[in-house]
Amino acid sequence: MSVNIMIVDDSVTIRMMIKKALYISLGDELGQVYEANDGISALAQIADNNMDLLMIDLNMPRMNGVQLISRLKTNPKYSEIPIVVISTEGSEQRIKELEEMGISGYIRKPFRPEQIREILSNILEVCYESQSADDDGCDF
Ligand SMILES: [Mg+2]
Repeated sequence: MSVNIMIVDDSVTIRMMIKKALYISLGDELGQVYEANDGISALAQIADNNMDLLMIDLNMPRMNGVQLISRLKTNPKYSEIPIVVISTEGSEQRIKELEEMGISGYIRKPFRPEQIREILSNILEVCYESQSADDDGCDF
């Protein structure tokens, strides 16, 4: 299997750190890594490519993370793609709102690579289980 992941963050440095953590976590199972610096660029790339997982920042110019997540979760074409939010903005209220919108995980910045590995293995395990149950959970 190979997992295609998109990193949406307006900081090049953060994107690089997340990418590195993805390689460490997934090794050969990591497929294509896409990068976007805001929600608009993310939406354009999601329309053109198959993504298995999205890692999304909240504070970004043009279209922020909450706007992007709401666009994705209200579109049946994209609503099943698991989303992990990685942000400095982590009040309980905010996290609760995001969970209600349907995100699969939340990581607070600054993060440790192990946190990414843990959250990925949780999400991918759920996908495997729903696949074996013949549900069309996550298609990779
Ligand atoms: Mg940001």
